[in-house]
Amino acid sequence: MSDLIKQCQLSAASDGPLCQPTPVLQKIPTRIAQIGESLTIRRALPHRERRTIGAWCFLDHFGPLDLKTGEMDIAPHPHIGLQTFTWTLSGEIMHRDSIGSEQIIQPGQINLMTAGKGISHSEESLPDTLLHGVQLWIALPDMVRHMEPQFHHYASVPTFKHNGLTISVLVGEFMGQVAPTKVYSSLISLDIAADSAIDTTLPLDPNFEYGILPLVDQAEIGGEIVTQDSLLYLGKGRTQLHVNLPASSRLLLIGGEPFNEEILIWWNFVARTKEELVAATDAWNEGSAFGKVEGYHAGRLTAPPLT
Ligand code: MN
Repeated sequence: MSDLIKQCQLSAASDGPLCQPTPVLQKIPTRIAQIGESLTIRRALPHRERRTIGAWCFLDHFGPLDLKTGEMDIAPHPHIGLQTFTWTLSGEIMHRDSIGSEQIIQPGQINLMTAGKGISHSEESLPDTLLHGVQLWIALPDMVRHMEPQFHHYASVPTFKHNGLTISVLVGEFMGQVAPTKVYSSLISLDIAADSAIDTTLPLDPNFEYGILPLVDQAEIGGEIVTQDSLLYLGKGRTQLHVNLPASSRLLLIGGEPFNEEILIWWNFVARTKEELVAATDAWNEGSAFGKVEGYHAGRLTAPPLT
């Protein structure tokens, strides 16, 4: 994702506020952008008021998009230093990458691509009624960020009922349920769906910082009304969270131990220095790295100049 957004800003984790060591309620407005002809996204991270939550460093909420009139069609583009994490509520997306993966993702499944030292991929929606989901990036810790690229598809994740909620554990551990998703720092992600109107609390880890984004309808979190126009940052130090959810609403919760490495994000790259970003940009545009995505119907993206 993000590949066709014209505005390409260098985002330095150290430019934004650091992890809040105590509970806060900080609303981070999402920015609306368009990818290609028809796909509208709401981008929650990075934002000048909040660069990372744990190692989560990028969050796009895409759709709902009627696939009778629109599509997701993201041509081959490269990544370094991150994992891309895709979760859908409806619709199907075909992923292809330069290590030979070809994988359709359906609702309830996860596609996790670990870029490491470099990979390229394409993403295309398949005809369906609606496309709706999220794509996030996870910054890789320095120790593993030059690893060989990998791709994992998870056909199912732990899902259970709790106090009228249907909770899927996408990453990490929650209430004894452990997601299979392979990540390299202490993280959590949950999909929380309210079967009916629910007023309840969720247990949290006080060592994690958290954020919540409504995906369907809105929610009252810690007494604050949050709509899809905002990501609510919760800070650290909470052992529980009060949520008041309307029937059929759905939330994405992300969190993790504060990621204490200073990262630079530019275009589709996560690095530590500007020189690394320039080298990756040149290597992609010259075709000297990142392999080739087989099976995509058209050409590939060009990296914009890094200024
Ligand atoms: Mn991508």
